[in-house]
Formats: sequence, C-alpha cells, structure tokens
Amino acid sequence: MTDAQTYDRVQTALQDLKFLTAPDSLDALAQQAATEHWTYLAFLDHLVQAELAARREQAIERNIRRARFPFIKTLDQFDFACQPSINEAQVRDLATVRFVAHGENVLLLGPPGVGKSHLAVALGMAAILQGKTVAFYTVADLLDQLAKADRLTSRLKSLARPDVLILDEMGYFPIDKRAAQFFFQLVAQRYLKGSIILTSNKSYGEWGSIFSDTVLAAAILDRLLHTSTTINIRGQSYRLREKRQAGIFTDLPDLSSSAQKE
Ligand code: ADP
Ligand code: MG
Repeated sequence: MTDAQTYDRVQTALQDLKFLTAPDSLDALAQQAATEHWTYLAFLDHLVQAELAARREQAIERNIRRARFPFIKTLDQFDFACQPSINEAQVRDLATVRFVAHGENVLLLGPPGVGKSHLAVALGMAAILQGKTVAFYTVADLLDQLAKADRLTSRLKSLARPDVLILDEMGYFPIDKRAAQFFFQLVAQRYLKGSIILTSNKSYGEWGSIFSDTVLAAAILDRLLHTSTTINIRGQSYRLREKRQAGIFTDLPDLSSSAQKE
C-alpha cells in the first residue's frame, strides 16, 4: 500500500471511530513528529491526549446543557466581600467537590436575593467541571411535574441518576401530603449516594409548616442533614443593594432576619 493509501485509510478509520480532533490534527502532528524526530509512542501520545481533552470538553458542555441551569454563574463571579456572613473558605472547600464523592448535601439558607441560587449553580458548575452530572430544578417546577405525573416511580428513577441534584427555592410553596411523601422517598433514595444542594428561605424550624406534616418534615430533614453542610446567609439582598445605594427603596423592609430563626 502506498503512503497516500495508508493515509486515506487512517483518516477513514479515525472518522469511523468518531475521533473528534484526530482527523484534523493528524497532518500537523505527523509533520511535527517527522521534523522533531518523535518516537512512535510520543506521536501516539500527542494524538490521543488531544483527543481526550476534546472529549472531556464536549462532555462538560453536554453536562452543562443537561443540568438545565436557569443561568450560568461561577464562584469567581461571587463577591464574598458583599456577604460577610458567608465563610468563604467553607464555600471554596465545597467547590473542590469532595462532598459529591460521599453523597453529602449542601443546604443554603437565607432571605431572597442573597446569592443562594448563584452559589447552588456555581457549586453545580464546579461539579460538572470535575466530570460530574447535575440536574437543576426549582421546587415549584418539580411539584408541577409531580402533579401531572401519574407514575412517581419513573420520576424518582430519573431523579436518582445525577451525581448532584439541585433543588432551588424550597419553602415558597406549601407541599401537600403526596408531594411530601415523594420528597421523603427522593431524599431517602439519594441518602449517602447522591448529593442534594437545596436552597430555602425558611429555617429548619419552619419546615413543618412547608410540609404540613411535622413528622414527615422531621424524617426528611433527618436524612438531609446527616452528612451535610449548612450555609446560613444573612444580610441584604444583592439584587436591591445597588438600588439601595442609589437611594431608591430606602423604606424596604429588611428581610434578613426571616430565615435565621433556628
Ligand atoms: P437568592 O437565590 O438568594 O434569592 P440569587 O442567587 O438569585 O439570590 O442572587 C440574586 C442576584 O444577585 C443574582 O443575579 C446573583 O448572581 C447576584 N448575587 C447575589 N449575591 C451576590 C454576590 N455576593 N456577588 C455577586 N453577585 C451576587
Ligand atoms: Mg434563588
């Protein structure tokens, strides 16, 4: 077989094998290998490493799409100076994503606008960058889906899959008996296996009222909190901060005490 024929065959094989970068990088790498006298092994190493990097990047993009974040925010975009009630070192430690390996949970509590969803998404993004899968739901959306679903088992199955399940805005809506039982099953099913990041404007003491069943609320909290980190955020809404600074809304009530009653 001539060199040209071999080249064509390799190109076709690389494409059939669904290599992402190798078909395009083959020419340049082969040339570089020749001029720099690479060993066969060094050439192969370059080719497969570039391919692996491209595949990792593609998987990350896919996992970001599948997470269905309402917005993309990272920890770098979070201004810790504005929120002194947050222990920055603790959040940065969570962003190492070690908690996911052990199926530990993260609970972000605090009044509206203090950055709970931002931090939940940022931790989710950190997890994806480490190769984990994430699914984001607002509790309202999840309840809506539950109300429409006639078989909860298939719903539960799909919620068991992601490495990290983000449940945003627990506490804005009351949760009826059927949904409370579902939540219990969800939390029990993921217990020590899959992480949950949950945000809420309610303190734990108020959970009984969200679930309209204090026994079930206690059982859910028991599993959720055993191996978990709670971040209590106090302070003023970041959303309204600039407006406050501009002198608008000076008479707004301070909501910062509502979630801190534990
Ligand atoms: P919450 O979920 O607690 O109601 P969000 O996370 O939605 O609040 O925050 C409201 C808006 O303010 C978002 O756009 C978020 O990115 C921004 N934000 C909140 N806190 C901070 C912060 N400390 N640094 C930078 N942006 C912040
Ligand atoms: Mg929010």
